[in-house]
Amino acid sequence: MAFFNVKVTLTQESIFDVEIEAADSEDAELVAKTAVWEDDYTDDIRNTLEITDEAYDAEEICDDCSELIDNCECEEEKL
Ligand SMILES: [Zn+2]
Repeated sequence: MAFFNVKVTLTQESIFDVEIEAADSEDAELVAKTAVWEDDYTDDIRNTLEITDEAYDAEEICDDCSELIDNCECEEEKL
């Protein structure tokens, strides 16, 4: 057994509808965009979130120096 650093990369998609009162469609889109970035839709986003792609990349960590094996400068004498 050994320790690994696993980088988890998730591509997520969230599709939902909101009703917005605005002057025109461009204004409505801008209001929606602003609300997204101001975290006003966090519940909608969380409730509709789907993982569309995922990647896992594990790299072994050296027991002696705690660096990733690729960066490790210890002697290569592992079993
Ligand atoms: Zn090392």
